Amino acid sequence: MMAQYLGLKADHPDTLLFYRMGDFYELFYADAEKAARLLDITLTQRGQSAGQPVVMCGVPFHAVDTYLGRLIKLGESVAICEQVGEVGASKGPVERKVVRVVTPGTLTDVELLNDKSESLLLAVHAGARNFCGLAWLSVTGAELRLAECPSDALEAWIARIAPSEVLYSAEVTPAFEQRLKAARGATPFTLSLRPAWQFDGGLGERKLCEQMGSTNLAAWNAESLANAHAAAAALLGYAEHTQGRALAHVQRLAVERDGELIELPPTTRRNLELVQTLRGEESPTLFSLLDTCMTGMGSRLLKRWLLAPRRDRGAAQSRLEAIAALQAPPPGGTAAPWRTLRDQLKNTSDVERIAARISLRQVRPRELLALRMALAKAGQLAPALPGASALLAQLADQLAPPSGCAELLVAAITPEPSALVRDGGVIASGHDAELDELRAISENCDDFLLQLEASERERTGISNLRVQFNRVHGFYIEVTQSALAKVPDNYRRRQTLKNAERFITPELKAFEDKALSAQDRALAREKWLYEQLLDALQPSVAALTRLAGAIATLDALCALAERSHALHWRAPSFVAHPCIEIEQGRHPVVEARLAEKSSGAFIANDTRLGPQQRMQVITGPNMGGKSTYMRQVAIIVLLASIGSHVPAAACRLGPIDAIHTRIGAADDLANAQSTFMLEMTEAAQILHGATAHSLVLMDEIGRGTSTFDGLALAAGIAAQLHDRTRAFTLFATHYFELTEFPASHHGAVNMHVSATEAGRDIVFLHEMQPGPASKSYGIQVARLAGMPAAVVNHARQALEALESQQTQTRAQVDLFAPPPVAEAPLASAVESALSEIDPDAMSPREALEALYTLKKLQ
Ligand code: ADP
Repeated sequence: MMAQYLGLKADHPDTLLFYRMGDFYELFYADAEKAARLLDITLTQRGQSAGQPVVMCGVPFHAVDTYLGRLIKLGESVAICEQVGEVGASKGPVERKVVRVVTPGTLTDVELLNDKSESLLLAVHAGARNFCGLAWLSVTGAELRLAECPSDALEAWIARIAPSEVLYSAEVTPAFEQRLKAARGATPFTLSLRPAWQFDGGLGERKLCEQMGSTNLAAWNAESLANAHAAAAALLGYAEHTQGRALAHVQRLAVERDGELIELPPTTRRNLELVQTLRGEESPTLFSLLDTCMTGMGSRLLKRWLLAPRRDRGAAQSRLEAIAALQAPPPGGTAAPWRTLRDQLKNTSDVERIAARISLRQVRPRELLALRMALAKAGQLAPALPGASALLAQLADQLAPPSGCAELLVAAITPEPSALVRDGGVIASGHDAELDELRAISENCDDFLLQLEASERERTGISNLRVQFNRVHGFYIEVTQSALAKVPDNYRRRQTLKNAERFITPELKAFEDKALSAQDRALAREKWLYEQLLDALQPSVAALTRLAGAIATLDALCALAERSHALHWRAPSFVAHPCIEIEQGRHPVVEARLAEKSSGAFIANDTRLGPQQRMQVITGPNMGGKSTYMRQVAIIVLLASIGSHVPAAACRLGPIDAIHTRIGAADDLANAQSTFMLEMTEAAQILHGATAHSLVLMDEIGRGTSTFDGLALAAGIAAQLHDRTRAFTLFATHYFELTEFPASHHGAVNMHVSATEAGRDIVFLHEMQPGPASKSYGIQVARLAGMPAAVVNHARQALEALESQQTQTRAQVDLFAPPPVAEAPLASAVESALSEIDPDAMSPREALEALYTLKKLQ
């Protein structure tokens, strides 16, 4: 057995091998040590092999999904090795085979997949002339995507694709390997090394043609992409290796080209909190607010739309038309179509993944039942679609369920199938005569036994004789001690108990053989019939994935219609000239948070950017709403670009090619970059990448260094963006000196967030107003934040000194001089009331009243 194990293990050196032994999957040697550590399970030793004790550990087969889930999350891969031969069919151990390999990028198990996100496998080929080829897919999806990019853009592509696993050739340079490893900082993924020969352009082209059932790739505009073909060869090879078969359901091919998408660098995704908060949580984010989809397919598609907005507005425009049609109440004043459709979409199973699992022959009986119900629902969706949109009309065609598929499932699967085929009870009665007959034999057992019991009682005169069955001893006739004398000659003793004897007769033995073998044969027949059913379903897989795509699109569109209605969003309009014009724009996530906490209404603000006025220099107190305003502009532009309605009264948008952001400054400790270095790296990337059609958000640039350095750099960056890049720029700064900038740069204007003072406190109005801020209110904000009074006084004193000496140079101001004796801070109403309280002289009731009075004064 160990020889068999070692042979299998040699084929999967970098993978944990789960070796099936009866009811357990066992791991041995180094695999066992690693798994025991990662899963916190007990390591044991058994026997010896080659003079060494065999270290092992195991997991029970019925709980394997949980353990797999944990290992995959930790980035491990697992090869599942099953017993495939008959036990005892040959000498030596039963035949075993690795039936599939589970890796982070090739998950197919329902239990391991996240409903709302795709698990993507990406192959990267470092090609000639500094170009890289990329090919990626989701094993449970239907589409394979290809791209070629300049080598220096690789990290950005990987970050956008956000794969779970990346394949690369064993022959890349150490520097290239290092870059791939470093790219994991932005999105964690597993790196898997593959043999160099698998990255072969010719092989890839052949495999792609085969996959698409075509003689060439011209129809997909995917010819002459040798680098991407090489990546595709490795990708398909690996996917087949892990699944143990070809991915017949992957029948769509798409080529993504540089310049087709609106660029959303990883910093932008992070800063705008599109799918993850800055703290790494899934909510509240723009996606968590947007995603009210009824199905996982819809959520996954909506996320793809959000993270890959297209520069070309064709798709967005047709989605906007579809949303309008979904919102228009039909004549007769009944509910808007999106409401009805969402009710119908509710509880629709994941047709996309089920189709993939049919093709991979991993589908479970209950999924087929779910598919049957989804097909019935899908048939009702098309008639409910409003006709007024080209996109919806196209969806109506695609929603037609594949012919014969539903009928096949109804005929073949029982209404309440067991979870696994091996348990039986899956195939409907009436589907197969032989199965019905075998089942009848085991089901008729009871009748036969009752009849036999009656006839034997009569024959022997033993009135309490019983004919029974148990799993260990099979069928038997039980006679109590007292009646033993009456037992006839043809009874053979089977078992002796304390008060009774159990017998078998030739007639009963013959029945036992027939009944037991009928059960086994029925199970075997069911397995065979299930395989036949899977064969019969294969031709429908392509139609099922098309149907899944249509359901997903409809679901995502209905979710956008619902959001627009619930959150009072409006349709944007696209124009050809460069501009970003927003009336009464709002930040949807901040607005939702305020509404949740009932802490006041969100103050809407206008934005007007165009060729004449393409930069806003924004000043105002911290906490005033500068970041919120800047982000809201970017979010509205993004939402419009995916064809969603937007949180604004109106929005007109010219062409946009990228959204760049430089916000905040979290130290990137993992990459050993200082805050300032990171700030400058990001700013440099923006200056290199942005164009006149880009939107750039710059928040507090220069903060990470000394005042003069920072100010000088901020001024330089603003000038570059204004004069050369000419991008639409929102430039928030705490350098008051920069409010002079618009005087000499006519494409820039000053804006400020308004605030007023109430006594020594500050009240934020969150309104964007023209002109520079009059004050920065930093000291008031610090006071609000609970800074000790002594520090606030010190600061106020120092500020007065600075302001009174404005004509002199700052260096002459001694910022660190001890402050003059601070005036005693005015006692607040609470403090005065508190000083009058004498706890010792109060009754509990008075004390309680005093507490309430204090609370009111607060
Ligand atoms: P700044 O960038 O100027 O320091 P922020 O944009 O971070 O300020 O805003 C601080 C807080 O003020 C936000 O968390 C939000 O609660 C509130 N806020 C900002 N803008 C608005 C607005 N337009 N309406 C209502 N509340 C707002």
